[in-house]
Amino acid sequence: MKKWAALGAMALIVLAAGQLWAAELEVVFFNGKIVTLDAAGTFAGAVAVKAGKILQVGSAEEIKKLAGPPTRMVDLGGKTVVPGLIDAHCHPMEAMMMKETWVDCRYPQTPSVKQALINIADWAKKTPKGKWIFVACVSASENKFAEKRLPNKAELDAAAPDNPVLLANGTHMGVANSAALKVLGIKKGVTKLPHGGSVILDKNGEPTGVLTDAQADVPTTPTVAELERYYTKGIQELWNQHGFTSVLAITPAAALPVLQKIAQSQSPPTIRYTTSIWTSANGKDMPADLSKFNMPRGTDPAWYRFGGIKVWIDGENDCRTGYMYQPYVGKFDTDPPGGKGTLVTDQRAANRFAAIAYQAGVICMMHCSGDHATDIGLNAYDKVIKSGGPRAIMRIEHFGMFQLTNAQLARAKKMRKKSLYISIQPTWLLDLVKADFENMGEMRARTGFQFRSMIDAGLEPAAGSDVTGIYLDNINPFLAIYAAVTRESDRGIFEPGQAVSVTEALKMWTVWAAKSMGEGNLKGSIEPGKFADMTVLSDDIFTMPKENLKNVKALKTIVGGKVVYEAK
Ligand SMILES: [Zn+2]
Repeated sequence: MKKWAALGAMALIVLAAGQLWAAELEVVFFNGKIVTLDAAGTFAGAVAVKAGKILQVGSAEEIKKLAGPPTRMVDLGGKTVVPGLIDAHCHPMEAMMMKETWVDCRYPQTPSVKQALINIADWAKKTPKGKWIFVACVSASENKFAEKRLPNKAELDAAAPDNPVLLANGTHMGVANSAALKVLGIKKGVTKLPHGGSVILDKNGEPTGVLTDAQADVPTTPTVAELERYYTKGIQELWNQHGFTSVLAITPAAALPVLQKIAQSQSPPTIRYTTSIWTSANGKDMPADLSKFNMPRGTDPAWYRFGGIKVWIDGENDCRTGYMYQPYVGKFDTDPPGGKGTLVTDQRAANRFAAIAYQAGVICMMHCSGDHATDIGLNAYDKVIKSGGPRAIMRIEHFGMFQLTNAQLARAKKMRKKSLYISIQPTWLLDLVKADFENMGEMRARTGFQFRSMIDAGLEPAAGSDVTGIYLDNINPFLAIYAAVTRESDRGIFEPGQAVSVTEALKMWTVWAAKSMGEGNLKGSIEPGKFADMTVLSDDIFTMPKENLKNVKALKTIVGGKVVYEAK
């Protein structure tokens, strides 16, 4: 009797220990071709997840041994699995807003000015008098529309006589109608807007309707209810669908309080948000004390984190507003005076902005498109280094996408040791190379998109979709991988010597993206201790024909060990 009791007690102890272990080990993913992207480039078969983080990686045999009865076992179906994809530069709030509430005049579905005006007139008929109408056109629409120009102010007046209209040609230039100019208080002779936007005048000093970098001057922020819906549902669903598990969300300060409130709710999102708060021209609206941008006390930084601040040094070369040393080729009615683009933030203001980020110990992001703007960004960072910094990452956004000199590449390589990181948008190969040749001529255009040289210089470029809602398809990271590997462009194969390998293109969206956000220890590879974020792919990207890379899809998106998206 005694003996049986003792045995029973022992069995109880064993059972208790087993339950404890199994309760800790939540899920085992097995039967995958798991690309860990660890330093040794290990491929594994299975992953054990505990408390949302990776406990162990190995063969299915090794990992299955760890599982107890309540451990969930997830069969990966023999598919290729990569670290959860990270969008290191995107504008998710704007993407939702433009997708849902703006008139769609995006090329090629809208091939001409004529069609754009029909779309706008149709929209105006359904819109109450006086309500703003915003219109989305892809970047460089003046190069793409059949008429080789943008709609003008008079045409917008005729299409929507009773509403203020702003037609966005990409995100750095727009055309306003007369009602919009009136609402914005733009009269004869006015060249600057309160938040840094510029006004293009005709020879009599009358505004032509063209505005550059007026993002902060135009009232586009959605309602609180819309923002709540975007942040709690729309953004997560859209990015998860494309395999993303984290975003660096460039966020307007006006929308931040909504996200801060959501961050306090108990249920975690399905995507990890790192925010960067953007400011108007010259960093004018950026306070020296950034503490109000912090997430509320008690927020789990695994899900919501204030990461950095962002400023625009210039416009963008695709709409001929990137700030260059030499003038653009030819002349458009919409060109800013001087023909060398728009300087949005001057050297002094750039220095001040970089110093604010240095003092606060947060990531500094400087948007630099033209060659002159790139030097302004690098100069500002040089100053930070000379004053003993930085304490966080310093980033150039869109580094060398339009043009890059050898001297700038060498300079960036040297500054890398001092935490200079670069962000790139490989998908633009498919959108903008043709316009680059038209706007800058062959010599300058050929210096863009030098991904091979950037990697060889040790710059570890971080990919970002830069999705704002202008090019909706650019959210697809596999288009970017396809373009970076094949060098396919909208002008045919472009500079094939700058091609990268599939592994390198994948690193742009994973390890290198994580590092550029200061999160390399938590994200970007499938290794013990990191978040259990993974993306299951439809195809084996390492063995498939390269031209098919553009058709790859995310089958499953896994965040913190939970499957948050599954393709139908
Ligand atoms: Zn951007």
